[in-house]
Amino acid sequence: MSSVSHGARRGWRSMPSALAAVANLKAALDQLATAGGPQAGLSSVATPSSTESPLNWVFLGPPGVGKGTYASRVAKAFGVPHIATGDLIRAEIKSGSDFGAQMKSIVNSGKLLPDEMVQQVLHQRLAQGRRDGEKGFILDGFPRTRAQAVELVRSTPLSLVLNMSLREEVLVEKCMGRRLCKHCGKNYNVADIYLPASPDGSRAAIVMPPLSPPPECAPHLETRADDREDVIRHRLEVYKQEATPVEDFFRAQGLLVDFEITAGIPETLPLLMPLLQSYAGAGRRAD
Ligand code: AMP
Repeated sequence: MSSVSHGARRGWRSMPSALAAVANLKAALDQLATAGGPQAGLSSVATPSSTESPLNWVFLGPPGVGKGTYASRVAKAFGVPHIATGDLIRAEIKSGSDFGAQMKSIVNSGKLLPDEMVQQVLHQRLAQGRRDGEKGFILDGFPRTRAQAVELVRSTPLSLVLNMSLREEVLVEKCMGRRLCKHCGKNYNVADIYLPASPDGSRAAIVMPPLSPPPECAPHLETRADDREDVIRHRLEVYKQEATPVEDFFRAQGLLVDFEITAGIPETLPLLMPLLQSYAGAGRRAD
């Protein structure tokens, strides 16, 4: 399998799979039309049976791309757990264990944990999943270094690494538009994004309407202190430095699939799901 790209800006992987994807897409859209929304349409995807390869997927993407949201929706649809290493680490810290205490000061300083520490937490979780008969996973927040990627591929048969992207100016606007209601804890986004397609067709139009708060939340909205433009651009720069060696490694392994997001979640899921379905049940371990 070679590295492939998806999304409006880039081409489809190959003609047969493009035709299959279009057929799947039509079915997914028909379902959405009749079943009333993206969540309803998601319930019908093929999930791996006990005789198929495990559905072991990794989702990569910069802050603000919506990776966690997509990972949790896709995991639910395919009947596998969404495993976020940040959540595992926070749970370990909360448990009050000695191991958690060792991790706490590093995490609080905003630095990455040593590879061995995060690998230990993840391996425990994956081993538990195997004992419980889980049919795979969607990993989020791991791997973050090349060494983690190498170790993961060595120990676990992966079938897909989805590399989600969104144009940088949109990421910045989206992060700056984030709002949290202090009263009910719900998240909103006031950014109203429309970027026309480039005249030469190399860049697709991007349309992301705001997720506006209801009137009762409007007086209670707050912005995270770190959702400032300079801080966001710095986070994106750090992400790029961290992610590039990881992406390069998975690309060389033939596992990386690029997926550019050009619209909101309701429009994107019907494009993403048929693509993912074509990878379900195709596990392999690196040589
Ligand atoms: P997150 O919720 O993904 O931002 O993770 C919260 C914190 O957990 C990070 O700032 C790191 O300190 C730690 N962490 C999570 N995943 C990893 C990883 N793959 N490698 C190293 N540290 C991690």
